[in-house]
Amino acid sequence: MSEIRVEGLTKRFNETAALNAVSLDFAAGSFTALLGPSGCGKTTMLRLIAGFEAPSEGRVLFGDELMADPQRQVPPEARGVGVVFQSYALWPHMDVGENVAYPLKARHVKRSEIAGRVGAVLDMVGLNGFESRRIEELSGGQRQRVALARCLVADARIILFDEPLANLDMHLRSSMVDAFRDIHRRTGATIVYVTHDQAEALALADRVAIMSRGKVLQAAAPQEVYRAP
Ligand code: ADP
Ligand code: ADP
Repeated sequence: MSEIRVEGLTKRFNETAALNAVSLDFAAGSFTALLGPSGCGKTTMLRLIAGFEAPSEGRVLFGDELMADPQRQVPPEARGVGVVFQSYALWPHMDVGENVAYPLKARHVKRSEIAGRVGAVLDMVGLNGFESRRIEELSGGQRQRVALARCLVADARIILFDEPLANLDMHLRSSMVDAFRDIHRRTGATIVYVTHDQAEALALADRVAIMSRGKVLQAAAPQEVYRAP
């Protein structure tokens, strides 16, 4: 069954449609890459799924629950979605453990439970024992892993990535690709991953949705995706 469904989704910011009547299903536990050049509407799709933008037309469903149509939108914090951006958006004045614990504290999870869950997700992203490290001592790749851990700690069933590797150098990118695959396998979350990098999309996803000018041209398994000569 589909965990996320967008139906006839259109988003206009001015005359032009950033998204133009897109319909797409995301199966539970699937890993979909949204691939396409800058400006084709990838981030807009992600923001509509997360609830940061309202649709101009069409709707967003999670399972059979309506998340958004032009009249009514469930707010982002009520959608139970984890988001990881290109810029890590970590709090520089907090240490690693405090950054990762933040979503749990915001939800009033018991203090006794927090340390264990923070330790477990830091383990999962390869930052075992980094709790008291300061953000400014970390490399870009380590910061992106902290952002990933902060997203994972909340146990979201849906995780949205917006070009999370864009600011990292080559060798870090390949180690993060492995980390993302591992996270997908271990959490079984439904992942939507925005990138303009074809190699990254093909390496990571079990389905690639190719976008152009606000439309999805094709959505298929990596081995079935048409490759331009
Ligand atoms: P991508 O993520 O594929 O680079 P975006 O979804 O960011 O593309 O943008 C799609 C189009 O919508 C672009 O032409 C962009 O300039 C426009 N756009 C996106 N967000 C806004 C906004 N808040 N206001 C006006 N135009 C926007
Ligand atoms: P991306 O790196 O995914 O392409 P951008 O850097 O284009 O994203 O956009 C970053 C933010 O700015 C997003 O929130 C997007 O909605 C907004 N944005 C993009 N294009 C425009 C625009 N033409 N006018 C206003 N806001 C925009």
